[in-house]
Amino acid sequence: MNFDTIILGAGAAGLMCAAHCGGRVLLVDHAAAAGEKIRISGGGRCNFTNTGCEAGNFLSANPHFAKSALARYTPWDFVSLVSDHGIAWHEKTLGQLFCDGSARQIVAMLTGMVADAGAVLRLSTSVTGVEALPGGYRVVLETAGKVWTAEAASLVIATGGKSIPKMGATGFAYDIARQFGLEVTETRAGLVPFTFPEGRFADLSGVALPVRATAATGPGFPEALLFTHRGLSGPAVLQVSSYWREGEAVEVDLFPGDDALATLRAARAEAGRRGLARELATMLPARLADAVAAELALPGNLADMSDVVLAQVAERLHRWQVVPGGTEGYRTAEVTLGGVATDGLSSRTMEARAQPGLYFIGECVDVTGWLGGYNFQWAWASAMAAAEGLRGR
Ligand code: FAD
Repeated sequence: MNFDTIILGAGAAGLMCAAHCGGRVLLVDHAAAAGEKIRISGGGRCNFTNTGCEAGNFLSANPHFAKSALARYTPWDFVSLVSDHGIAWHEKTLGQLFCDGSARQIVAMLTGMVADAGAVLRLSTSVTGVEALPGGYRVVLETAGKVWTAEAASLVIATGGKSIPKMGATGFAYDIARQFGLEVTETRAGLVPFTFPEGRFADLSGVALPVRATAATGPGFPEALLFTHRGLSGPAVLQVSSYWREGEAVEVDLFPGDDALATLRAARAEAGRRGLARELATMLPARLADAVAAELALPGNLADMSDVVLAQVAERLHRWQVVPGGTEGYRTAEVTLGGVATDGLSSRTMEARAQPGLYFIGECVDVTGWLGGYNFQWAWASAMAAAEGLRGR
């Protein structure tokens, strides 16, 4: 064995693991640069964690699986790391922590730590085969047309999910899991905009407003919604997309935290000659107010509307039901839902139960976070859990 550990994938989880697992480490990635998703994350500022992170912020067939790793490596542990490296940060909203400067600082911190740990980093290197040996693993690699092999007692798969194939995302981790008899749960695009046939919202493109969006299952998300040429986007929509299933409706409260019926009745009492569109424009962005009023097509002005009619308008605002045609898919999805089934992994170390020395960390595992720094926190925490397991081998 020429290494103790081979880590495939030099993204968030792979870099973190290589920096902490100790021993002779080979870290391999087929991309030309490490941590590319970190670099583009959070609009270039990397939302690197969330101070409110807990297992309830994740989707998984086993909602308990993430608890152990998340409890042992907390958002504050990563904050300490970032601060120790002199990286300034701030809370944007809802516990989301971002770099003041650039996401590149996080990449530089991690690659620096990997170098300090003495790990060997091989970029632009593809993996053409993986096999188990007695007491270890052999990987067949190819760099600039040259085929070579490496052997190690432990193999860590950190190649992420299928989101953004243009950046080199692959289903490699799932193939390796299946090769070694592990189950892979259904994978689909998560944190992704909704699309609608025939540019249904094209006229509203660019309109944004605070809403509360809820899928048929899962929590409600009080965040912003954005109308786009192709459909609906914005944080609230990305969040519910992870819970949405084809054919289901999404419910959107367009007037969250307020009582639309009381507002409309008060307006009728004070300014009964006002038209509905004009009144709605005090409650919603003007273009959306026009569209809602046109769709409701109610005759007369506010004074002509009974409580029953106003209740219908309020219902339309608080419980707008919309059935997306689909999503933009892996092309723009921030994450991949599903993945390597947690049943086959130790929640303490991320090691495959039936395949000693084989570990899966990060997004390839069936643990997917909400929008807001949770996915990086899972990458860091699962990597640290594996690093601890590797140090103890
Ligand atoms: P990745 O970081 O994707 O790393 C996987 C690595 O494996 C890559 O370097 C890839 O090149 C390599 N690889 C893949 N296949 C192979 C193969 N066959 N052979 C060799 N190497 C391979 N999450 C947050 O928490 N906060 C954010 O602000 C945030 N912003 C995001 C913005 C965008 C646009 C996207 C797409 C995602 C964002 N995410 C964010 C999600 C977050 O980036 C991922 O959840 C996280 O990077 C997962 O870490 P990972 O190490 O498991 O996988």
